[in-house]
Amino acid sequence: MTAVCRISKLNHSQKQAIPVVRCQRLHCSLGVCQRPAPPTREGPRVSSSSLWSSCLAAPSTGLTMTAKGDKEGQAWANSDGTGRKASVWGVTGTAGEVLSLMGTLFLLTMCPAFIMFMWTIHSKFGGSLQHFASFAMQDGWQGVIGLLPSPTRAAWIYFAVFGIFEAALQLLLPGKTTYGPVTPKGNVPVYKANGVAAYVTTLMMLALLWRLDLFNPAQVYDKFGEILMVTNIFALGLCVFLNVKGLVAPSSTDSGSTGNIIYNFWWGTELYPRIGKHFDIKVWTNCRMGMVSWGVIILCFAAKQYEALGYVADSMVVSVLIMEVYIFKFFLWESSYMKTMDIAHDRAGYYLCWGCLNWVPGVYTSPAMFLVGHPVELGLPLAATMAVVGLAFVYINYDADRQRQAFRAEGGKGKIWGKTPKKVEAQYVTADNEIKTSLLLASGWWGLARHFHYVPEIMASVFWTLPGLFSHPLHWFYVVYLILLLLDRGFRDDQRCRSKYGKYWDRYCEIVKYRIIPGIY
Ligand code: NDP
Repeated sequence: MTAVCRISKLNHSQKQAIPVVRCQRLHCSLGVCQRPAPPTREGPRVSSSSLWSSCLAAPSTGLTMTAKGDKEGQAWANSDGTGRKASVWGVTGTAGEVLSLMGTLFLLTMCPAFIMFMWTIHSKFGGSLQHFASFAMQDGWQGVIGLLPSPTRAAWIYFAVFGIFEAALQLLLPGKTTYGPVTPKGNVPVYKANGVAAYVTTLMMLALLWRLDLFNPAQVYDKFGEILMVTNIFALGLCVFLNVKGLVAPSSTDSGSTGNIIYNFWWGTELYPRIGKHFDIKVWTNCRMGMVSWGVIILCFAAKQYEALGYVADSMVVSVLIMEVYIFKFFLWESSYMKTMDIAHDRAGYYLCWGCLNWVPGVYTSPAMFLVGHPVELGLPLAATMAVVGLAFVYINYDADRQRQAFRAEGGKGKIWGKTPKKVEAQYVTADNEIKTSLLLASGWWGLARHFHYVPEIMASVFWTLPGLFSHPLHWFYVVYLILLLLDRGFRDDQRCRSKYGKYWDRYCEIVKYRIIPGIY
């Protein structure tokens, strides 16, 4: 549940000395958004690299956002005072510069087709690309299209019940109030941290319905193609709705058009869309429909193997166990997820919302999807080794995220690995020309590389895929995809931080030289 608070200066005459953030919109009665910002040591930089205004920036593609305050923001966006173009902290960095129009159109059309065929190849051809290719050569495109499932009534009911249940948990379960980072337009999103409660409640409900014979989880596997068709149709409709909403009735000032309808659809028009004051769409799509469904679907796949074989193979146990711990870890850390690129930078469009509603259930679950028809027997020693090593990587990934979160929460004063941490005090400027300071950690996991936490993330995925061994390349698709995603993300985040922090980021890069793999990259 969220609200978005607007930040402003308390007093203009105090502008340079004591910036204060003040909630002008929701939750003011709680007083939760009023807190003094750290005093600044330098005067405001009028031409900023910060690109808080980059949501408005016109990059090489000539795209321009049209949100409130654009003119001013755009002027800042074009230069950081060093002559460097700073146009990546926002919409255009992703939609306009990284992807060409053709590339965007290609992804818009190919991704839905990909997940449908991924499922079809797993369920009808045992995950074998070769068998699928032979079928396609023999039966042609008509035969291939004929394999695709339809969006049945039962699938719509499954999806609707799950979606409404998750929305209700999101709104009704109690949770501590937490905050996202200051947005480019100076807003502070407010959240209710109830992800762990929502996840545990969902799993308990699944177990209860199964125990009472009210619901057979194995049916999720039987109807999975139909369900994916439904999620595709729903997500495409949702993206259209979000695009229009961001233009005509945005929930906050962090919204606007790229000037191109295709990029708008791909990237979205709003950073923090909400229905009413409290229902946050990105929390629902990313955390609940995406992450909770991942955890539920893989259990249903294991149930399918149990129904088919009368037992669950140790390979399935290891794979599902590592993924479940990873997903639980996500919910433990959910409030910090609200400070990552997905939420604080990427808008609610096709890339994020369609992805979480379809790509996560369709692709992230694929290691377990494959194992349903390939019950590999690993034996206890191998299974236990894979589980322990995989869980260790999940822990390192968690610890890296936790370390950064604790470091900032303690104002850089706590010890990291028993020592006082190295840090950079990095200043940036909001679209309101307000100077703020962030701390950049240069010790612990964050001293090894600027995005070292991606290494254990990838290694954990290797270990939940490994139980299926190497018989079919498609089984390894998620790992390959994740490597590409995180390489791109590390690059994009560096660009974003350089735009935001300018010379302070350069200073941090001098201390922490490598982007992801220490000593290599
Ligand atoms: P990060 O946790 O890497 O957050 C990036 C932000 O952190 C930056 O934009 C910056 O934001 C801040 N930051 C960067 N460097 C530092 C530093 N040295 N000290 C303090 N703050 C810093 O975001 P991600 O979303 O990429 O990753 C979050 C988690 O999600 C990771 O565990 C990752 O592995 C996982 N992940 C999983 C994916 C999957 O599909 N399985 C995909 C992507 C991520 P600010 O503006 O606040 O300074």
